[in-house]
Amino acid sequence: MKVLVCGGAGYIGSHTCVALIEQGQEVVIYDNLCRGTLAAVDHVRQLSGAQVRFVQGDVRDRGTLETLLATGFHAVIHFAALKIMSESCQYPLAYFDNNVTGTVALLQAMRATGVQQLVFSSSAAVYGDPETVPITEEAPLRASNPYSHTKLVMEQLIGEVCDARPSFSAAILRYFNPAGAHPSGLMGEDPCGLPTNLMPYVSQVAAGMHPRLSVFGGDYPTRDGTGVRDYIHVMDLADAHVRALDVLQHGGCHVLNLGTGRGYSVLEVIAAFERVSGCRIPYEIVARRVGDVAEVWADTSRAEKALGWHAQYDLLRMCADAWRWQSMHPQGCQSSQPIEAQRQASIG
Ligand code: NAD
Ligand code: UDP
Repeated sequence: MKVLVCGGAGYIGSHTCVALIEQGQEVVIYDNLCRGTLAAVDHVRQLSGAQVRFVQGDVRDRGTLETLLATGFHAVIHFAALKIMSESCQYPLAYFDNNVTGTVALLQAMRATGVQQLVFSSSAAVYGDPETVPITEEAPLRASNPYSHTKLVMEQLIGEVCDARPSFSAAILRYFNPAGAHPSGLMGEDPCGLPTNLMPYVSQVAAGMHPRLSVFGGDYPTRDGTGVRDYIHVMDLADAHVRALDVLQHGGCHVLNLGTGRGYSVLEVIAAFERVSGCRIPYEIVARRVGDVAEVWADTSRAEKALGWHAQYDLLRMCADAWRWQSMHPQGCQSSQPIEAQRQASIG
C-alpha cells in the first residue's frame, strides 16, 4: 500500500511511519512543519532504511493535496493538527481553522482523487469528564475546550462522509495519553518549549531542566488524590495504525479507543520514572489545573477485537524509553525555528 501520512513529521506520525515501512508499506510524509521537524523525517529514513519522500505543505492547501494524491495512494493517515488544549482556549479560531478546515480540505482532496481510506487521530478528550471508567466508545461525548471541540466536529464530519459514501471507510482512533519514545532513543516527544503534558515535563525535571514538577491537584477522589490517566506507549499506537489500515480493506467506519485499559496516578508516574532513570523527581502539589478531570482510562475491548491488538508496553517501559530519548536529546527541541516563531506562524 502507498500511504500519505499527514503530520508525519510529528511525534506519533513519525513513529507510525517507521512501523508502516517495517510492515512493507510505502509512505509519503506531508507536513507543514509548524510543530514537526525535518529531524524527525530524517530519523524515519534512518530507522526504516527507506528513501521516504517528504512534501512540505499544509493540509488546508487542497490543491497541493489533490496533485499529490492524484499520483496514486491507497490511504491517508491524518495526524496533522494543533493539539495543545490551553493554547486552543487562547486561539480557538486558529484551532478550528487548522484542524477542521484542514480536515475538510483533505476529505475534499480524497474525494476528488478517489482515495477511499482514512485513519484519523482523535482523542479521549472528546469524552470530557466521564461519568464512569473504564470509558467505552458509547460513552457520552462532552468536549469541553476548543481543541476537543475540533476533534468532535472532525469525527462527526468523517462519520457523515462514511454514511454518504459507502465506498469510503475510516478508522477514528481515540488516543488516551500517548507517552514513551522509539526504543532506539532517536525519536520521541519534543514539546518545543515548556511541556504541558505530564510525561515530557517529568522527563525534563529528571534531566535537570526544571527544578520541580507541579502536581496539579492532590485532592481528587482517586487512590492517592492525584489525577489518573491511561498512558499508552507510542509504539503501541503506531502498531494500532498499521492494523487499522488492514481493517479498512473491509470497509466501514470504526471508532476505537486506544489505551492500555489501566490508569496510573501522577504520583505513580513519578515513582516509575524515578525507578527507571535513577533520578529524583522533586515535586510539589499545587492547585488543580482548570479543565482537568479526576480519572480517565479506556475500555479497549472494541479495539482489541477489531484490530487483533492490545498494548504491549507497560508504564515502566514508557518511562524508560522516554528517558532514553531525553538523555540523547539534552537540548530538547531539534527545530531550527524558535518555538514562538513557529507558534506565531501556525496560529497567525
Ligand atoms: P505533533 O504536534 O507532534 O504532530 C502533529 C504534526 O502535524 C506536526 O508535525 C505538525 O507540524 C503537523 N501539522 C499541524 N498542522 C498542520 C497543517 N495544517 N498542515 C500540515 N501539517 C500540520 O502531535 P502528535 O502528538 O504527534 O499528535 C498527532 C495527532 O494525534 C494530532 O491530531 C493530535 O491532536 C492527536 N492526539 C495527540 C495526543 C497527544 O497527547 N500527543 C493525544 C490525543 C490525540
Ligand atoms: N499533570 C501534572 N503536572 C503537569 C502536567 C500534568 O500534575 O505538569 C497531571 C494532570 O493534572 C493530569 C495528568 O498529569 O492528571 C496528565 O496530564 P496531561 O496534560 O499529560 O494529559 P491530559 O490532562 O490531557 O490527560
